[in-house]
Amino acid sequence: MNCYVNLKNRKMEKNLKLFIFTFFFAIPFISLVSQNKENKLIVFDRPAYEESLKKMPSKELINLGKKIPDISLDIKYATPNNFTKQVIYKEAKAFARKPVAEALGEAQKEFLKLGYSIKIFDAYRPYRATIKFFEIIGDTRYVASPKTGSRHNKGCAIDLTLVDLNTNKELTMPTEYDSFRKEAWAEAPVSDSEILKNRTILIQVLTNHGFRVNKTEWWHFDFVGCAGFEVLDIPFEDLE
Ligand SMILES: [Zn+2]
Repeated sequence: MNCYVNLKNRKMEKNLKLFIFTFFFAIPFISLVSQNKENKLIVFDRPAYEESLKKMPSKELINLGKKIPDISLDIKYATPNNFTKQVIYKEAKAFARKPVAEALGEAQKEFLKLGYSIKIFDAYRPYRATIKFFEIIGDTRYVASPKTGSRHNKGCAIDLTLVDLNTNKELTMPTEYDSFRKEAWAEAPVSDSEILKNRTILIQVLTNHGFRVNKTEWWHFDFVGCAGFEVLDIPFEDLE
């Protein structure tokens, strides 16, 4: 009898543990994270992002305009002046994960010494914007696939150019931002020596600080150390 009671108690205990685990851990996790149904891409909303910060504080998205001295913002997707011709962001802000922001800050120090300053066109991009781009363009040769998301969605990519501190004007680069032309490729031949010099300085300094230029976009830089950073879907207005 005692033996039976013990067995029964142990079974109840096991069930109780399972219930506690499901109720307190598994269910909240499911409610925090949404999945892209087609391919199981995990997309974090704000509660999931906040939960992830507890385990890894370096995942924090940093406001680049506030964190990095003298940086300027020209957030094209907060205006209709972009390839979609639509206003995609409600606010003209730029965020990146903490290690990305710190590396960019170091690059900015070097640019300032050379007489230049960073101007950001785009940084962290909420996943919903990637979906919107795909709805408008519908071609993954030009925009990221919603099936995978982009490094911008992970807060690990920056689109930028340089401003001359003497004139306060943008340096001339091989093409305008977001150009789909072949001249926008990072290694496309450039005949104008001034433009070649501008592009070379941009790429060289950022490479020295842990970034890698995109093959087809001179303005797009991925931060190399971004393993484990999830795709996020938190609009700027919900970040601060
Ligand atoms: Zn980009």
